[in-house]
Amino acid sequence: MKEKDISKISILIIPGTQKVRRLSIPHWLPKATVGFLALSLISLTVYFKMSLNYQSSLLQDANEKLSIINSLEEENRDKDKKLNSLKSENNHLYEKTEEVEDKLTEIDKLQRRLEKMAGIDSPSRGGGINRDVEMDLTNHAEEMNVIAEVLEDKKLELEIFIEDLEAQFDYLDSVPDLRPTVGRVTSRFGNRRDPFTKRIQFHQGVDLANSTGTSVKAAAKGTVVFAGVNGAYGRTVILDHGYGYKTLYAHNSKILVKVGDKVEKGQEISKMGSSGRSTGSHLHFEIHIDNVVTNPLELIPN
Ligand SMILES: [Zn+2]
Repeated sequence: MKEKDISKISILIIPGTQKVRRLSIPHWLPKATVGFLALSLISLTVYFKMSLNYQSSLLQDANEKLSIINSLEEENRDKDKKLNSLKSENNHLYEKTEEVEDKLTEIDKLQRRLEKMAGIDSPSRGGGINRDVEMDLTNHAEEMNVIAEVLEDKKLELEIFIEDLEAQFDYLDSVPDLRPTVGRVTSRFGNRRDPFTKRIQFHQGVDLANSTGTSVKAAAKGTVVFAGVNGAYGRTVILDHGYGYKTLYAHNSKILVKVGDKVEKGQEISKMGSSGRSTGSHLHFEIHIDNVVTNPLELIPN
């Protein structure tokens, strides 16, 4: 190779045992190849870097949304818990009046609104601008705070209402308006001729006659303040019901309670008899209001 050909590059290929082969290529080809490869590499790097940045920003957005959704869900669960405890706490009283039913309906409506809002958490809006979604979620969170306040108010209202209701039930249970025994009215309240002296005398109660051993029941709930023999009244029970009400049950054959016992309205307290000054088996029943005797037939069914 004496002559130098500058327009070409010669490559010698020397395989194991065969003849040497010469390959001639233009001198610019390797440079161009290297240049092309370098350019491709740079483009690829830029492309990967861009797509990586894009993906990580998407991921960040998704995470932010997820954490907002999680906190909203947690808030919803708290509200549900409050509602449930409110319901079970007062369940037995809900059935008692229509007014309570109305309040329950109101609370159910609020709960449905909360559940509806929990529904927006599913990211089905797709393609929207993230900031809008975030603002939407913030608005709903504010709305939920308002609803939580309303719920708290309703709960307090309901608690006060239930307290009132319980006080009313307590009063109604304490009014002696239950007929204390089964029997025929043989003597009414007021002036009458005394069966022993035959003189006009004031009868302080009502006489209900039936056979000895007939059940005598408390006309209202209350406390036993007397249980024993009381002169002409014979075996007597006196109950104090509060609110100024007292009742007296006389001529019993047997007393089933003792002083200090709490009795419910309708609870058996004694057995009818003819003890004391009596002409036959009957219950002499008195009602006192603020220590004044009152006609029992104005309170108990005739
Ligand atoms: Zn009597």
